[in-house]
Amino acid sequence: MEKLTSELVKRVAKENGADLIGIAPVSRFKDAPPETNPLNIYPKTKSIVVMANRILEGSYKGIQENTDWSSYWIYGYGTGIYGTLGNAMTMTRQLVESYGYETVSSPGSHTILPHEAPPGRPPVVEGKLPSNVVLHMRISAAAAGLGEFGWSKVFLTPEFGPRQRFEIFLTDAELEPDPLFKGRICTKCMKCVDACPGHALSRTERVSIKIEDREFEWGAIDLGKCKLTHWGMNELASPFIKKDVPGWKMNIDEQTMTWFEAYNFGRAVSVRSKYINTMATGFEEMGQGGRPGPICGAYGCIETCYAVLKKNRKFREMQKETGVYQDADEE
Ligand code: SF4
Ligand code: SF4
Repeated sequence: MEKLTSELVKRVAKENGADLIGIAPVSRFKDAPPETNPLNIYPKTKSIVVMANRILEGSYKGIQENTDWSSYWIYGYGTGIYGTLGNAMTMTRQLVESYGYETVSSPGSHTILPHEAPPGRPPVVEGKLPSNVVLHMRISAAAAGLGEFGWSKVFLTPEFGPRQRFEIFLTDAELEPDPLFKGRICTKCMKCVDACPGHALSRTERVSIKIEDREFEWGAIDLGKCKLTHWGMNELASPFIKKDVPGWKMNIDEQTMTWFEAYNFGRAVSVRSKYINTMATGFEEMGQGGRPGPICGAYGCIETCYAVLKKNRKFREMQKETGVYQDADEE
């Protein structure tokens, strides 16, 4: 039987649908807060395996044409992307477990972490952490060498820029780790800041973390403003809210809601409104239980960023070197 190596793990992941895969040793999480530390989910963790699939460029076209918001929601977030990625995860975990190791899947969090989400759950066992320990997706991707943070806080890879979503599993198999990404993708052009209809991205306030000898940085983001806009409550980005509530006025710059408040507010409004709900579900009379979707279409942090990167010769060369795009010619 072939030896279990990182190379074999990556081959199986890619053969089963993963676009990207990187491996981090657990030592790269030594400074992670306890509530995001993999050892608090699986104490025997030796390696953290991070996979990604690309969000296809065409996913945004319906929003750009103001005609279809469901495509990005389904194919950029839902089964359209996580179906394939889930298959790659399952098959790769089966491979690793067939060698006698354990694998523990963690959904991770893109946006908020337990300490940012009051009220926290109480521990279910005395002396333990609350029961919502979750890895930070993007920091895990950085630790696995897949790329770097953009100023927008969206993760950037040399293959797809800001267009991908991740899955993670932990294992007690000691796999050869990938080196940290040493290149620079983000040009600090601040076009994401200019284009974000939620005015959620700071131009000046910087956040940074260090993993081994590499510093990763991004701009501060107001998650409440982002969520309100993403959920379609911000009339600057939503063609629906004024149709539902003609008298609606929301000055996004004055909003101080937390992510959770914005999340709950957006959901409460959407289940009683025809247009936002229609957009998300595709059924006019869905009624209770509907939910809003990504109405802003990540216009600043993903769409604009990728449009900028596509015009950047250095990025296109980097992209071409990855072999993902055969036609990544200069424009
Ligand atoms: S648009 Fe992209 S490349 Fe430009 S600053 Fe924002 S994240 Fe960086
Ligand atoms: S998801 Fe929308 S509101 Fe949030 S940062 Fe991106 S462009 Fe701005």
